Amino acid sequence: MNYAKKSIEDIGTAGKKVLVRCDFNVPQDENGEITADTRIVGALPTIKYLADKGAKIILCSHLGRPKGKVDPKYSLKPVAERLSALLGKTVALAADVVGEDAKAKAAALKDGDIMLLENVRFHAEEEKNDPAFAKELASLAEIYVNDAFGTAHRAHASTAGVADYLPAVCGFLIQKEIGIMGKALEDPKRPFVAVLGGAKVSDKIGVIKNLILKCDTIIIGGAMAYTFKKAAGRNIGTSRFEEDKLDYAREVMVRAVGMGVGFMLPIDHVCADHFGEDATPVPCKHIAEGMMGLDIGPKTVEKYSAALKNAGTVVWNGPMGVFEIPAFAEGTKAIAKAIAESDAVSIIGGGDSAAAVEQLGFADKMTHISTGGGASLEFLEGLELPGIACLLDK
Ligand code: ADP
Ligand code: MG
Repeated sequence: MNYAKKSIEDIGTAGKKVLVRCDFNVPQDENGEITADTRIVGALPTIKYLADKGAKIILCSHLGRPKGKVDPKYSLKPVAERLSALLGKTVALAADVVGEDAKAKAAALKDGDIMLLENVRFHAEEEKNDPAFAKELASLAEIYVNDAFGTAHRAHASTAGVADYLPAVCGFLIQKEIGIMGKALEDPKRPFVAVLGGAKVSDKIGVIKNLILKCDTIIIGGAMAYTFKKAAGRNIGTSRFEEDKLDYAREVMVRAVGMGVGFMLPIDHVCADHFGEDATPVPCKHIAEGMMGLDIGPKTVEKYSAALKNAGTVVWNGPMGVFEIPAFAEGTKAIAKAIAESDAVSIIGGGDSAAAVEQLGFADKMTHISTGGGASLEFLEGLELPGIACLLDK
């Protein structure tokens, strides 16, 4: 995967019609009110830059899962309203995606004007990456800008297909994602430490496989640790683990030794006799019969923090414990603190990891929190993301 891609700064957009794929898939309450506009705010730098350059801006996005049919529940109207308020100028919403209204509104745009197409997923052709639909969408514009990292791992018409018909570049959000994460994978500041946790080894096999080739040290926490512990012959009580991943876990540990990669597993735990808000946390060195590990223990925190202290680059994916329950959030909190206090380039990938860092108050201390859950995992796996691969190389 080539991470050196052209951006909106590398292409002339003055007076040009520019189709910009954004990620406006915002959370809404039952009345359709937007409950968090982080994604809309995140798109503003790209939109403002293009408007300042005098481009004619045609924004598009998906919202929710309308399943290929027009459904007013998933209209982008609230997004158009919020965008207008944030920009202090009207963003006209087209009544359709590639229909008469969209075409008329696009044709009438003046330099610096901004419009928004209706939900691209009102067409089943979007997720099928139908070439005729992609061509029609592309026909509205002269340049394509992808700034939706959250859907960059999908080959849909508006995320990749349109690039077959238009010169394609990235916006500032994708530029930042590939700049920071691409550098970590290609030319990291060392030592490069990966912190991997979360629910399952099986979700992270690709990430482990790729990072073991690049890292100096891999730190394991979360439920994932217990599959490795069991594979190493330890007693894990009733801790969550994956029977069918024991061989893989053994293989990873052998490979790490062979490659000289440090591989760290928890040396103590915070256990409980059941999983739940009301569970009593019990710190322990060895997990007793009938107990389950729900967080890494204080000795582990000490050991991991020491390894993180002098790191040059840290990639973190997956919480160290059940951070949603305060009694089992200490490990995740301490690791977030250690990463925040180190001078390392720190990258947080994964939906729950990003939520944990934000919830625990360390968000502004990290170099980069990826905006795409699934997309960031595929990126860290070293996979080619269609929404990025389709962009012009530098
Ligand atoms: P991400 O979304 O960042 O990739 P995951 O989805 O893999 O992360 O994992 C997050 C989930 O893992 C959290 O809901 C957390 O409660 C759970 N988890 C972490 N440690 C444990 C544990 N020891 N036992 C059970 N669940 C755990
Ligand atoms: Mg998750």
